[in-house]
Amino acid sequence: MAVQALAGWNQSAAYGAALLDLLRKVTTVDGSILRPCYGEGEQRAHDLMAQAARELDLEVRVDGAGNLIMTLPGSDRQAPGWMTGSHLDAVPDGGNYDGAAGVVAGLAVVHAMRSAGVVPRADLAVVAFRAEEGSSWFSGPHKSHFGSRAMLGQLSQQELREARSLADGRVLYDILADAGFNPDQIALGRGLLDRARVSAFVELHIEQGPVLVERRLPVGIVSGIRGTLRARNARCEGTYAHSGAVPREYRHDALLAAAELAVALEAQWGDWLAGGRDVVCTLGRFMTDPARHSLTKVPGEVQFTIDVRSEDAALLSQARGFLEQTALAIGARRGVRFALGALDIGSPARMDAALQDDLRALAATQGIASMTLASGAGHDAANFALAGIPSAMIFVRNDHGSHNRDEAMDPADFASGARLLAAFLIKHA
Ligand SMILES: [Zn+2]
Repeated sequence: MAVQALAGWNQSAAYGAALLDLLRKVTTVDGSILRPCYGEGEQRAHDLMAQAARELDLEVRVDGAGNLIMTLPGSDRQAPGWMTGSHLDAVPDGGNYDGAAGVVAGLAVVHAMRSAGVVPRADLAVVAFRAEEGSSWFSGPHKSHFGSRAMLGQLSQQELREARSLADGRVLYDILADAGFNPDQIALGRGLLDRARVSAFVELHIEQGPVLVERRLPVGIVSGIRGTLRARNARCEGTYAHSGAVPREYRHDALLAAAELAVALEAQWGDWLAGGRDVVCTLGRFMTDPARHSLTKVPGEVQFTIDVRSEDAALLSQARGFLEQTALAIGARRGVRFALGALDIGSPARMDAALQDDLRALAATQGIASMTLASGAGHDAANFALAGIPSAMIFVRNDHGSHNRDEAMDPADFASGARLLAAFLIKHA
């Protein structure tokens, strides 16, 4: 069946590339992509995909969170089916492919199946999620990914009531209600999706780091989505003093103490890597207080953030212990006090091992060079995996990273990644 359906793959890949070009055209405003969560540009993207789905004679529906579900009916309508897709919103001044490549790849796969007259055994749904980039468009205590998390019953009442649009100040609940969606259904917490009807989820997405470019490989198979350990408001308090008058032994320099913690974390990071562990560590903000610091003062306070990410939940706990103990030791020795604040852990999401094996085997059969790598960024697929639905991800090489207008995915790489998705879905669906 796979051979038959993929015989005309070039036409389906070209169909996908043309759809991506059209999407760029209809969502570009003043030279940059504009697709805010639940905004006009995102809606335009949803309308375009819904129209494409109707032209492919798919069943089209919108759920209570505004997610678009485009279904190719299977021969057994009762059997649990497969889902594929990604999101259509984008960060401010972002690129055309982050998210959209996965939705369009799903439609290209369906295009190939339609062209070859292939009917899947069970329903195959292509989904366009809403608001994956919620962090860029909403303030307040929320975990973003509103569309997929609402679908899976993971979006809380508090988030509905307190996630607030940075554009117009409305809360998420009101935005959903005003748009004609169903926030009350989401608030029930049962999810908008009948989980028993989904056997697995697979998402194609551009890689947002440089690994595939550096390794000269068009496609990646994702092992898991890294979890996070975060300190959002860490501080080190020492004592302000005269930079000329106070000898070294009498100082309680907050900046040097925080710097020592940063360097200790980097050294520990090296040890973890040497031991074969997956981890990345970042101090993203590091600042003295502009109202109180000076060229001629020993810094009495430093504020900083910590973002440690790993596929390994145990490592994130270890990192928390390491930071707490090291901060105590440095504090005692230097006479300063660290307040790291809440060190929150967000769980990593493992991609299904058997599905990964399948993707690797199919890539080899299809002659698509690939490697296995972790995703450092969050994705809708993580929410499916955390909900207990077997999930997989395919990365497509993309130059210049993402979340910027210079995202550059080669159409040939898109064709390879989407062909792997096609072979995978045709095998399973
Ligand atoms: Zn994305």
